[in-house]
Amino acid sequence: MLALVFAGRKARLARQQSDYIANISHELRTPLSAITLYAQTLQSGKLKDNDEKTAECITTILREASWLDAIIDRVLTWRASSKDLLDLHMKDEPVAGAVQGAVERFRSMVPPDEITLSSSIKSELKVRHDAKAINSVVLNLLINAYKYTDGHREIEVNVSDSSDCVTIEVKDNGIGLTALQAKSIFLPFHRAENPERGGTTGVGLGLSIARHLVDRHQGTISVDSRHSGGSSFKIVLPAAGDDS
Ligand code: ADP
Repeated sequence: MLALVFAGRKARLARQQSDYIANISHELRTPLSAITLYAQTLQSGKLKDNDEKTAECITTILREASWLDAIIDRVLTWRASSKDLLDLHMKDEPVAGAVQGAVERFRSMVPPDEITLSSSIKSELKVRHDAKAINSVVLNLLINAYKYTDGHREIEVNVSDSSDCVTIEVKDNGIGLTALQAKSIFLPFHRAENPERGGTTGVGLGLSIARHLVDRHQGTISVDSRHSGGSSFKIVLPAAGDDS
């Protein structure tokens, strides 16, 4: 009986590993193909008399390189966190800088005509946090808001203080999730089976990393979503104590 359980677990792990390799290759290939295509266009000399189109081409290459960087960052963070090797550099300060940094980076990653991105970052409470970690969690939520929304994306980032905690919200008008799907999305390698998801690439690690990082900050992360009705992800972090 035990042997059967082990064999089942081994087969599941092998399947997960092979899906992971296929999915990550697919995810890396998407920006890489765009970079190759735009670089080839520049190399062909077709745009040599068109400064505007040349600049557009270069912007796209940099944008796609930024996506590649975000994917690689996610894989490395996953590796470090699963081996308990993730060093966080905690400081007591407001999270506004980390969130603003993520919003700016995200803005540089997507064509401006595809999104309406608004942010209200009104937070002065100090939070014990690693700015790089919070920046990457928020960037990941923004990337998901973009990936899982068809058509024109309306994305909102709100940061607000209450008496003893800070809430960071990332809200989209995307494909949303059923209550059942929403229950599993923070598990590693889990992707909701959504027909609207189309060919969106991913490996299902971003949210489990986000949860791990938020846990390390003694915070919580949750989602409020409706199928076809958009999603709102909320991170709640405790304010730093008075002794800070
Ligand atoms: P990935 O995007 O690589 O699949 P994540 O861990 O970031 O991995 O997300 C897990 C799953 O949660 C996604 O595959 C998707 O099904 C669902 N999901 C995440 N963010 C959203 C969102 N903003 N709207 C709808 N579904 C989402």
